Amino acid sequence: METTIIKNGRIIDPANNLDTIGDILIVDGVIAKVGVIDDFPSDPVVIDATDKIVCPGFIDLHTHLREPGREDKETIKTGTMAAAAGGYTSICPMGNTSPVCDSAAVVKFIKTRADIDAIVNVYPMGTVTKNLAGEEIVEFGDLYYAGVKGFTDDGNPVMNAEIMRRALEYSTMFGLPILDHCEDKQLSDEGVMHDGLVSTRIGLKGIPPQAESIQVARDVDLAAMTGGHIHIQHVSKKASLCHIRQGKKQGVNITAEATPHHLCLTDEKLADFNTNAKMNPPLGSEEDRQALIEALIDGTIDCIATDHAPHTDIEKDMPITLAPFGTIGLETAFPACYTYLVKTSRLSVSMLIQKMTQAPADIIKIAPRGSLSLGAPADITIIDLNKSQLITKDFFHSKSSNNCFIGETLCGVITTTLVSGKVVFRRDDPKIT
Ligand SMILES: [Zn+2]
Repeated sequence: METTIIKNGRIIDPANNLDTIGDILIVDGVIAKVGVIDDFPSDPVVIDATDKIVCPGFIDLHTHLREPGREDKETIKTGTMAAAAGGYTSICPMGNTSPVCDSAAVVKFIKTRADIDAIVNVYPMGTVTKNLAGEEIVEFGDLYYAGVKGFTDDGNPVMNAEIMRRALEYSTMFGLPILDHCEDKQLSDEGVMHDGLVSTRIGLKGIPPQAESIQVARDVDLAAMTGGHIHIQHVSKKASLCHIRQGKKQGVNITAEATPHHLCLTDEKLADFNTNAKMNPPLGSEEDRQALIEALIDGTIDCIATDHAPHTDIEKDMPITLAPFGTIGLETAFPACYTYLVKTSRLSVSMLIQKMTQAPADIIKIAPRGSLSLGAPADITIIDLNKSQLITKDFFHSKSSNNCFIGETLCGVITTTLVSGKVVFRRDDPKIT
């Protein structure tokens, strides 16, 4: 019997309405007791969590692991090391790999590779259409039985409304969500950044907010029509929120995520042509950012997801018009949100944790992960809120370092991450055990 005890931490478990000082006893990888524990088996591994937060491990619904196909950017191994270092214990890789994840064979490859290399739980997403071409729907049943947790063409929108309608209809047979990268390609065109004052000032082609909001409106309507579960990915603009809010009010099966970068930063970050701040959808205005925070608080936005998108230095060192879209985010998600949203008194720390644990677990139905319930796998993150860290290029365990928070000092340091009771990351000794 393997026994670990996490002593004297501030235990925050939103799924069980818990915020208390105490201990957690882990026996054979599952949570055996939460509270003040005096009687435990002899010789446990003891982790002292005095003055630290102890919470369920974070769950990311939106990760790009790049394997198979672009192992120069990230692999299942390095991506899950980055996840563990960021306090994530479960992640969902997107299907826009090479080959794309549109068949059971590719799902099985990812799962087999993850069994060997991953240090956190990996829940692959399948694509909606074959080869991400937007023309022909994948065999949903094959992918479901191979083990995907949802379907998404992320990286690309599903431009054809009829295809999206059918996808939503089929997905109801398997109870899985369609995760939706909303972008009207004709409107976004060759745009580089948000269409606003900054783009005008620095002379870069803008992407109007309606490139996102028009497709959000369409897909909320299609979800209403079909009864399918639509999950709107990386919502970034105020103009999209009214459609989600309205849909939810009318009982449409809709959930939504926002990224740390859209919640924390604005298009001003691109004023010096910083390619790490070039992402799709683009960073919006301060008005957009404030609207997103409000939506996170009122539940219009259900959860926080990273859209961790690794790219090599060679690609990101190109002129801003040519550099690829994307920022890595697994290792800065909590510190960025804690610094920008909790330290500024907009969100409580327990609400932030709820948006990164219970909420995403509910969307892909993997509870009791995302909680510290008795009998749940002991996926646990320990955080020191009293420490801060300057984010530099050397900070990352990811294979890539294209991160939009480089140069900033962020509060809240992940010190230890456990998956099924096993320590997979420790900040003082970042070697993976
Ligand atoms: Zn996307």
